[in-house]
Amino acid sequence: MSGPTALVTGAGGFIGGHLVAELRRGGAGHIRAVDIKPFGAWYQRFDDVDNVRLDLNDHDACYRAARGADLIYNLAANMGGMGFIEHNRALCMLSVLINTNLLRAARDAGVERYFFASSACVYAADKQTNPGVTALREEDAYPALAEDGYGWEKLFSERMCRHFREDFGLMTRVARYHNVYGPFGTYAGGREKAPAAICRKVIEAKMSGRHEIEIWGDGQQTRSFMYVADCVTGTRAIMHSDVIDPINLGSSELVTINQLVDIVEDLAGVSLERRYNLSAPQGVRGRNSDNTRLKMALGWEPSTRLRDGIEQTYDWIERRMLGQEEAVA
Ligand code: NAD
Repeated sequence: MSGPTALVTGAGGFIGGHLVAELRRGGAGHIRAVDIKPFGAWYQRFDDVDNVRLDLNDHDACYRAARGADLIYNLAANMGGMGFIEHNRALCMLSVLINTNLLRAARDAGVERYFFASSACVYAADKQTNPGVTALREEDAYPALAEDGYGWEKLFSERMCRHFREDFGLMTRVARYHNVYGPFGTYAGGREKAPAAICRKVIEAKMSGRHEIEIWGDGQQTRSFMYVADCVTGTRAIMHSDVIDPINLGSSELVTINQLVDIVEDLAGVSLERRYNLSAPQGVRGRNSDNTRLKMALGWEPSTRLRDGIEQTYDWIERRMLGQEEAVA
């Protein structure tokens, strides 16, 4: 196959699986898909792709993964929703090994471009104390007060990308993803994020006939949620852009968690009694993505309406829970 060789790490995960699917659709040369998980646990896996199971914490595994690659999309990380990252800070920080070793391998393999999936969790907590938030601009990451564990690892790894660019000439690109959701992702087991968790809980309530739902926090906290197709489009565009500094990649459609539950209830055709668990992990009070730089750089921003994306997500999770859908495409 002609064209560049693209390595996607974390390819057995949610966004990585969608990225591989999109690269294939675009006929993007040779694709190597790497993840630590057993193949049976990958959300999407394709037979015409070079699928490899490796632990990228390991130096030699990173060199093996990067060999012959022209483009590296590093999406591998030990991560999950707030419930996971608040209770697994050391595990989250250990993902620094993946980015460190992969950057060294990319430099030594002469890779053309290297993409790192960072997160809105790098933003300083004191800029996110109000649900009526001012959207976060890229400079709001400093003075640094990132989400403990996960956010600090992302911030450190962002800087390492910058220094590999400055010191070794590796062309690095960094996007700060804001809450990504969609089908073929985690919706149960402790690592799921709010949109998938709420879909699952509403479906469980519908299936069991117990018309109630537990919501983490008071439901007034605000977020924006980006549909995974937009995330993949933006990732590829940022990779091939001339944007050298970390840039937001998120939706700017701000909602409260209660409004998110309203949408899911509406799609499900149920109205549930809401129980607010104020001692559950909630993250920051309000967060939105300022897309000024993104629009200037790409002339584009994520635009899938939350309701449309949630409908796709809800349908997929419901089919899975009813046993009508296999995880692997
Ligand atoms: P995910 O957990 O579904 O995918 C991450 C994948 O990385 C998993 O399949 C996991 O097995 C793999 N992985 C972990 N450790 C590894 C290792 N040592 N070697 C090889 N593979 C390993 O998560 P996702 O939602 O698809 O996130 C992808 C990337 O985007 C991550 O870097 C994440 O931090 C970042 N991100 C995601 C969101 C979001 O809302 N989903 C938001 C901000 C940033």
